[in-house]
Amino acid sequence: MSKRYRVGILGATGTVGQRFIQLLQGHPQFEITALAASDRSAGKSYAEACAWKLQGYIPENVRDIVVQPIEPPLDCDVVFSSLPSNVARETEEAFARAGYPVISNSSAYRMDEDIPLLIPEINPDHLDLIEVQRQKRGFNKGFIVTNPNCSVISIAPPMAAIHRRFGIEAAIVTTMQAISGAGYPGVPSLDITDNVVPYIAGEEPKVETEPQKILGELAGGSIKAADFALSAQCFRVNVVDGHTASVRVKLRQRATLEEISEAMTSFPGLNLYSSPEQFIEVADEPSRPQPRLDRDNGKGMAITVGRIFPDTVFDYRFVALSHNTVRGAAGAAILNAELLIDKGII
Ligand code: NAP
Repeated sequence: MSKRYRVGILGATGTVGQRFIQLLQGHPQFEITALAASDRSAGKSYAEACAWKLQGYIPENVRDIVVQPIEPPLDCDVVFSSLPSNVARETEEAFARAGYPVISNSSAYRMDEDIPLLIPEINPDHLDLIEVQRQKRGFNKGFIVTNPNCSVISIAPPMAAIHRRFGIEAAIVTTMQAISGAGYPGVPSLDITDNVVPYIAGEEPKVETEPQKILGELAGGSIKAADFALSAQCFRVNVVDGHTASVRVKLRQRATLEEISEAMTSFPGLNLYSSPEQFIEVADEPSRPQPRLDRDNGKGMAITVGRIFPDTVFDYRFVALSHNTVRGAAGAAILNAELLIDKGII
């Protein structure tokens, strides 16, 4: 039997924290031993502190765990963080300094040059930054690894498939992001019912910069970001889960539609516990992907792409979709941890 690691979750009562708890039920490598959240929750049992919003009830194995403040030490080997970014910066560093592997969803460290911004199928070599990070920050055993923004996870995989074969020169992205992306209680119902909101604070700069870091080359201890311009507009739409993105790409080399589609479907996946069987699914039906129908593909861990078509201004356009709290958050962090174990780093 493989070794089991004791897991602590920071921000355990929130939207992503609840998804962590759900996805870790029955996980062969992880066992939840510590939960932490704000002063509002600390000292209460998890069942008392948490307004559970996922299907089913709060799992028995966490109901009675007493929520801790978000400071080390916690009774665990690995820390998953789903804290708001303003709190995450100080807290995640404190845990890494105290010797914990910190696997974070938050944007606080994503763009720091010594921090891996990881999609295991795309840039596992960026984990070499952990050594750079330890030297620069004086961490001993601990480190920080991040996963991308919840919209970037839908666009980076198909863009990686295209960029590695044909080179991307420029891209335009329009996201249609689900309400759960704003956490709980999130967007007021009177703002989002019967509506589309063309603004998500701080989102567009993340979508315009994270893909180039993920697709960048690691050389000499730092990442040279992929060299393409990306323009993004981000919208909040009246969908509960699942972020959709409309993407247009200008290519450096010519490609046929069949080659673009094949580059996506043949992009290699991994064989980790949470990996989907098919990393990038290409839907042929003209009206797909749709959040309600496709967000759970690959148990929420697949990226679904459709509407691949020659573009009249750029070269190609397509629509990409993924589950924002699974592949875009908790599932992404769990997969990152599985890769870190597989590589012997945890
Ligand atoms: P959320 O539902 O608002 O939950 C926030 C969590 O952080 C709660 O557990 C809350 O504890 C805790 N918290 C808030 N302020 C705190 C403080 N000052 N000190 C300690 N704990 C504090 O938010 P979320 O959607 O889960 O998002 C969490 C993080 O994940 C954010 O950085 C977000 O950007 C990122 N993320 C979210 C998604 C998504 O789809 N929702 C996707 C990717 C990344 P209490 O319950 O005690 O207040």
